Amino acid sequence: MSKQKEKVIRSEYIPDVGSDIETIDGKDYLVTNDAMYTFYRRTKGEFSPFFLALKDEKKLLGCKCSKCGLVRVPPFLTHCPDCNFAPTELIEVEQVGVMNSTPPITYFATSLFQHMAPYGRGRVIFKGADTALSVILYTTTGILVPGIINKGTEVKLVFKDERIGEITDVFCVPASELTEEQLKKKGLTESEIDWESPVEPELSDVSDKDVSAYKKALEEIKTIIKGMNSNERARKDIAGWKRDIQVKVRGGQFAIIMNDGDIGIKEGEIKSPDFLMVCETPQTLLDGLAYRGAITDAVINKKLWISKNMEFNTIFKLDRMARSLVRSKKT
Ligand SMILES: [Zn+2]
Repeated sequence: MSKQKEKVIRSEYIPDVGSDIETIDGKDYLVTNDAMYTFYRRTKGEFSPFFLALKDEKKLLGCKCSKCGLVRVPPFLTHCPDCNFAPTELIEVEQVGVMNSTPPITYFATSLFQHMAPYGRGRVIFKGADTALSVILYTTTGILVPGIINKGTEVKLVFKDERIGEITDVFCVPASELTEEQLKKKGLTESEIDWESPVEPELSDVSDKDVSAYKKALEEIKTIIKGMNSNERARKDIAGWKRDIQVKVRGGQFAIIMNDGDIGIKEGEIKSPDFLMVCETPQTLLDGLAYRGAITDAVINKKLWISKNMEFNTIFKLDRMARSLVRSKKT
């Protein structure tokens, strides 16, 4: 089966033809969707060998000065400015390296990078190189949160299965999350990595008090979810979105089922959920759904864990539904 070709502008960012009315100070104004666009082609020029090596050979190249021997990765110079512009030559470097700094994590990216978030962005000095390469960072252990990758963490370069010759064709994961063979392998691809068995955080022991707190919170959550399900604005936030989320908290578990605008709760354990959400206290989730604090913040602050990094998007949608529900009550 051939995959539909991706467009330069992702289809979800292209607004529908249409218009709506915005009311400001009691007056109605008509607002129409329109577009202005320019497409262009650009060459990688003399950097082409570096990008072609990533794309076609799954190799990481640097340039070595013929005089001082300094190896720069990426190979952004053809002549060394420190050696009276002596020529450099392209050489291959290793695909394991060390973080040069603790990477910041982007959770809320611009539209161009939204489909990749959350991701870390940091500089890595690969074995055989003297300078650091700026790369995107991920973890295989679930959601990327501060503390997983730090300055000095050993990381491994991973190649995407589909590459077009951009620096985003590659990313890094902590070396400690891979097997010995994977670490040794040159040109390790993302599909060779196990993304499906993240380590679930353990919940502390359950008391009777926890169980009753859970039951109480669940009733409140059910009421909010019911409200969302019958709220037009909130329904719009998950139009076209389908997710079965298993929620585990101290005291019990239930599932949130999203299905193209519909949202509901199922008690107990469900079969093959899309991802897991684990939090110590149900109050964390309840507060988020009640718009008393964002669930995305709870994730970033490590109060709520999700098993798949890319499902941060779904968490973001839950926050939007909470906001939609509160806003429609106000108006
Ligand atoms: Zn030099």
